[in-house]
Amino acid sequence: MKTAKPCQHPPARPCQCPPAGPWRMILPVLLAFFVVGILPRPVSAAEAIVTDVRAGMNGGTTRLVFDLSNRVEFSIFSLTDPFRVVIDLPEVGWRLPARPLPGNIGMLDKLRYGLFKVGTSRIVIDVKSAPEVKKSFVLNPDGDNGYRLVVDINPAGDITKAMSPPPLKAQPQPDATQVGFAAPPRKPDGLAPGPVKRVVVIDPGHGGVDPGTIGVSGTYEKHITLAMAQDLKKQLERTGKFTVFLTRSRDIFVQLRDRVSRARDAGADLFISVHADAIKNKKTRGLSVYTLSEKASDKEAAQLAEKENKADLIAGINLVGETPEVTNILIDLAQRESMNQSSKFASGLVKELGRQTKMLRNTHRFAGFAVLKAPDVPSVLIELGFLSNRADEKALRSQNYRIKLATGISRAITAYFSNIEEAYRK
Ligand SMILES: [Zn+2]
Repeated sequence: MKTAKPCQHPPARPCQCPPAGPWRMILPVLLAFFVVGILPRPVSAAEAIVTDVRAGMNGGTTRLVFDLSNRVEFSIFSLTDPFRVVIDLPEVGWRLPARPLPGNIGMLDKLRYGLFKVGTSRIVIDVKSAPEVKKSFVLNPDGDNGYRLVVDINPAGDITKAMSPPPLKAQPQPDATQVGFAAPPRKPDGLAPGPVKRVVVIDPGHGGVDPGTIGVSGTYEKHITLAMAQDLKKQLERTGKFTVFLTRSRDIFVQLRDRVSRARDAGADLFISVHADAIKNKKTRGLSVYTLSEKASDKEAAQLAEKENKADLIAGINLVGETPEVTNILIDLAQRESMNQSSKFASGLVKELGRQTKMLRNTHRFAGFAVLKAPDVPSVLIELGFLSNRADEKALRSQNYRIKLATGISRAITAYFSNIEEAYRK
């Protein structure tokens, strides 16, 4: 099962032009050292690696065993709606055998794992009913076995116990400065002399413990979105007109509202979230563009927004969203102008991309995507295609195709901003 290789470029950062003098020599070296320092490090002997996962039944108990290279500290808790057991570990490496993860055994429905934030790896165990973690412990090596993390899960006898909230430390906020997102200071108000670079923030959907949708031959959406975002960033920077930031530049989980606040902190003039969809009908293919609306344009759009808005839930944290009333006020007041701008950009984008690729019918759609809710930043979400369709999946795995899309998106962005500038001059 091949998946797209996650790109591992250094995170976006503001321009660091070297000053004159000896620094011109020293700074690139220092910079290289710094950049290398924040790249995903190769797993050293001191760090634990998960080498296998097994699941089985013993009486009424479902036992999961994670084989480890080292002893690790861990915390475990359960969540409801849907029922899940979550295990947090220090950042570990994953070298699992090339076979599907265990699933549908006893209480176990599905397993997910990945980087939750810098320094924390997370395993999410979807369970079929309210769980009770009977035991969880690490076994020392014996015989052929190495270290093993063992988790025993029973159906909860007492449902109120199973619904107890997780410990506070289980809901950390990923720190923007720690996940490779260097936000520049907000732009000063007023007229800046000379040509001003527009700030574009690209948001690769999903990441880390949240793989997004999984393609017909096993491609993870989170890898496609990151690769696309990186190709688009390069394309935009080549024009010399834009400063570009990504909301994540590695395979890590980022909460939806953090994606929005990162765009605002960067002083974004435009926010583009990239995703890829999957549906039952494997013949459906094509790209589509979404902008925010209180009312979804159709049932499919509403369902898609609901699915994408569940990203936080999938990563095993409770949704702490704004109440519908707050959301409505935001939409009613500050958001109207951003929504107009978003729609203008979306129609230009649809026109431009129509020249490059196959489009889904009713290409520009509307729905309540959480990630498009920055009240003051025009925002669109691009569903690049359907990973459930072989042709779309294959195309999105190819860098040539992604560069073709990036070229179209870049042209649409350039046209959008020159229209705005022209309108100001009139
Ligand atoms: Zn998605």
